Amino acid sequence: MRGGTMPDGRNLPVRPGPAISFEFFPPKSEAMEERLWDSISRLAPLDPLYVSVTYGAGGSTRDRTHRTVRRIVEETSLKPAAHLTCVDARCDEVDEVIRDYWAAGVRHIVALRGDPPSGVGDRYEPFDGGYANAAELAAGIRKLGDFEVSVGCYPEKHPESASFDHDIDLLKAKIDNGATRAITQFFFDADVYFRYLDRVRKAGIDIPIVPGIMMQSNFEGLVRMAGLCGATIPARLFDLFDGLESDPGTRELLTANVVADLCHDLCDQGVDQLHFYTLNRAELALATCRLLGVRPVEMAA
Ligand code: FAD
Repeated sequence: MRGGTMPDGRNLPVRPGPAISFEFFPPKSEAMEERLWDSISRLAPLDPLYVSVTYGAGGSTRDRTHRTVRRIVEETSLKPAAHLTCVDARCDEVDEVIRDYWAAGVRHIVALRGDPPSGVGDRYEPFDGGYANAAELAAGIRKLGDFEVSVGCYPEKHPESASFDHDIDLLKAKIDNGATRAITQFFFDADVYFRYLDRVRKAGIDIPIVPGIMMQSNFEGLVRMAGLCGATIPARLFDLFDGLESDPGTRELLTANVVADLCHDLCDQGVDQLHFYTLNRAELALATCRLLGVRPVEMAA
């Protein structure tokens, strides 16, 4: 249940449903920019806790991420969370980005190590003079301002990690250095999340572990993505999407169904916060939120 106060002093109605947040990526073209802002304006009335904006490999979107985050601050009442990585940059360069965010009014950063510039799956080499990993970056961010810091975590283990224990030790290091929320890599089976949550809680970690929900209806693209980041796609989904390569409309409807089922499974077992990887498209997130009882605040009373 959530309520609160609008900037103009009106009380928000308390309503059922989980707290939500949305991830966007910075647009590359004018057409993509239009789609992003259309999505932001359609999702904003759902009153997300925050909206995050990704940071391209090797800082390739540094300016675009910054521009997008800044526009969210200036033109909306949403709270942006800027993703930031350690890749290919010295600490002083990353610190400059952090200071710029602070100056722009941004108070939440998603601190990530990032993937090797040569491609996911290659061995990661920390940049000379740079932050070595997300734990170091979290500490650097906290040193420069009273930011809220979120980090990534991996219900199926990070593909580079030797063991779950090692992964969880690293998550602890990120928390010791100031992280207050972990957002998971995507997954498709609620049991995978709850098994991980159990491990994490047994290790004494008590911050929110927020399920990251992937909204990708291009199944081939999803399989590629999952392969790179070590997420399992259950056999039932291969079966479900089989033969629909040239039928995006049906894939879209099925994706809405798959995602809503997963979210229901999670929320029925006590999850109260979800993070949606929107891929800059509003429809799937809007449909899923409706199915979960999350409505625009004006309609929720
Ligand atoms: P870390 O937690 O620092 O480490 C990940 C793994 O690296 C560890 O599990 C371990 O195997 C190894 N490792 C790290 N430190 C050590 C050490 N000291 N000794 C030994 N091994 C070590 N990528 C982007 O480029 N841009 C984004 O905007 C972005 N957003 C993301 C958002 C979320 C919610 C998630 C889950 C991931 C995101 N990623 C993004 C991908 C992320 O950058 C990759 O998953 C990356 O490989 C790991 O990042 P991390 O912050 O989890 O790394």
